[in-house]
Amino acid sequence: MPHSSPSVTSMPSAQPELRNDWARSEIATLFAMPFNDLMFKAHSIHRLNFNQNEVQVSTLLSIKTGACPEDCKYCPQSTRYDTGLEVEQLMEVEKVLADARAAKETGSTRFCMGAAWRSPKDRDMPAVIAMVKGVKEMGLETCMTLGMLKPDQASALSQAGLDYYNHNLDTSPEYYGDIITTRTYQDRLDTLHHVREAGINVCSGGIVGMGETIDDRVGLLLELANMPEHPQSVPINRLVRVEGTPMADEADFDNFDFIRTIAVARILMPKSYVRLSAGRETMNEEMHALVYFAGANSIFYGEKLLTTPNPEANKDLDLFRRLGISPEGVEPVSEADLAASLPASRTALFYNAASH
Ligand code: SF4
Repeated sequence: MPHSSPSVTSMPSAQPELRNDWARSEIATLFAMPFNDLMFKAHSIHRLNFNQNEVQVSTLLSIKTGACPEDCKYCPQSTRYDTGLEVEQLMEVEKVLADARAAKETGSTRFCMGAAWRSPKDRDMPAVIAMVKGVKEMGLETCMTLGMLKPDQASALSQAGLDYYNHNLDTSPEYYGDIITTRTYQDRLDTLHHVREAGINVCSGGIVGMGETIDDRVGLLLELANMPEHPQSVPINRLVRVEGTPMADEADFDNFDFIRTIAVARILMPKSYVRLSAGRETMNEEMHALVYFAGANSIFYGEKLLTTPNPEANKDLDLFRRLGISPEGVEPVSEADLAASLPASRTALFYNAASH
């Protein structure tokens, strides 16, 4: 008679405790589980903690694009790589607020603003703070990714009403030096510490498909899950191979390895939003459905959704409908409302800056 291991045959009936003491070997064991067992376990934990038929939708806007002095090997915004990216100075506050309004109308509940900086200069802070206040006044949650923060900058953003700060670990501590040399892993942990201390929710995750081993994926999730508090949002990006960056010719990343990474993140951090962001365009509908099942419950609408009558936006909403998923915290958006709310096309180049 067919059977499977007792640990996964029954649905957990109680919420597992939040743990910050995961051992590397435990995480490696999760990655090595048979696929169906892993999916069942992850989904069971997911539905104990979230409405399994809701996905939170955030919009990401690049408020300052390119010319970044850092050397992140995957990133077209680094000044060190010739990617043809059009550099854009910090956007005007009013322009950012207009895009935030459009994002709200298309069903986003959180508006994320990303600037390609090593860290914000003090002279940039007044504009950035005005953006946070303005977006917040619209009733949207606010998120920013601006690079490394000093404690006083974190507390100024907190006072302005910033809800989330994104700062990714990118990969394991062991593999990190192969990807970035201009800031250390500890620099990243320090920024996350300042953000937490300032009372801002932490959004932190990484990128897979950069040539790392499974052990590195274990190492990344170990770092995230053993933080003093789990990040409230955990973006899992799939490498976008951009021509001109050192990672342009990286090998294809296996779909099942991606889905497993999402499932393990869900198991380790049961109450965190696990977010799909960069690399979604390489995932078909069936894969989206599987990663939602594995516990992903947040997606990024990129800036393109703000700027074109957007097939991508419609594709996401169409898939939601077909899967019976609702965007979290918003009334369903009708086709007519959606079409009416999309602004005229703007040509700004967009890159997901959420990989800071
Ligand atoms: S990921 Fe962020 S810090 Fe790194 S090069 Fe790109 S914009 Fe700069």
